[in-house]
Amino acid sequence: MSPVNNAMDILKLLPKTNCRECREPTCLVFAIAAFQGKKELRDCPYLSKEVIDNVGAKIQHPEESSDELNEHIDSLKQGMIGIDFAQAARRTGAEYVNGALIIKVFGKDVRIDKNANLSSDIHMHPWIIIPILNYVLNCSGLALTGQWMPMRDLRDGMAWNGLFEQRCEKPLKKILDEHIDLFQIMTQIFNAREVEDDFGADVSIVLAPLVKFPILIRYWKPDDGLESNLNVYFDSTAQDNLDINSIFALGAGLVRMFEKIAVTHGS
Ligand code: SF4
Repeated sequence: MSPVNNAMDILKLLPKTNCRECREPTCLVFAIAAFQGKKELRDCPYLSKEVIDNVGAKIQHPEESSDELNEHIDSLKQGMIGIDFAQAARRTGAEYVNGALIIKVFGKDVRIDKNANLSSDIHMHPWIIIPILNYVLNCSGLALTGQWMPMRDLRDGMAWNGLFEQRCEKPLKKILDEHIDLFQIMTQIFNAREVEDDFGADVSIVLAPLVKFPILIRYWKPDDGLESNLNVYFDSTAQDNLDINSIFALGAGLVRMFEKIAVTHGS
């Protein structure tokens, strides 16, 4: 199937009964919300797993039109040309080697040359390229405090919290509800480390999308009639070292990566 770049293609897949089980008033409203990324296909109980897996990965949400993303990346690259790479390396925790920046992304090397071209063994999606460039341009260099806080407690977090729950925490929880064994795979792929937890979580892992921008994921399994729970936390310096748009983009992008891994390794 080719990329899904409009809501009507999603509507065609729905039963059009307007049953409201997805908590939207009609299938059309649901299709628009799914296209905009405010709803997940799995929120309609009448779509098969096959459709959800195959179509879900092909939806190009409006903010992700490749032309706009490429323009955005180009403008960030323009901003990179001429900046002091040695100083940027000190701020970001990167290395400055032979005129290039070597920056750790999920523990793996990404090289940025003087023309702001990126190269790495890891697959470079816009959702990771844009945060990397913003990080190099704007990271304040503040040292991590080790104080973890949820999205809503970040400086501009309240405005993003609802969307972050929808696009990051809820789908991530659902993936782990169905594939708890994926935590181990994710830990290996993303160079995460398991940490001691004072909050009674069943699993707590810290990932380092960027050296001065770690995230903590806590997951509680369902227990005694209580639903499972998952929360993502950020270091209290998060917004000093990465802009809020990039923080959101990394969270939502990570979920898409996990979804693909879940499909590949699905039980
Ligand atoms: S649950 Fe599915 S069928 Fe029912 S209104 Fe929502 S999208 Fe339509």
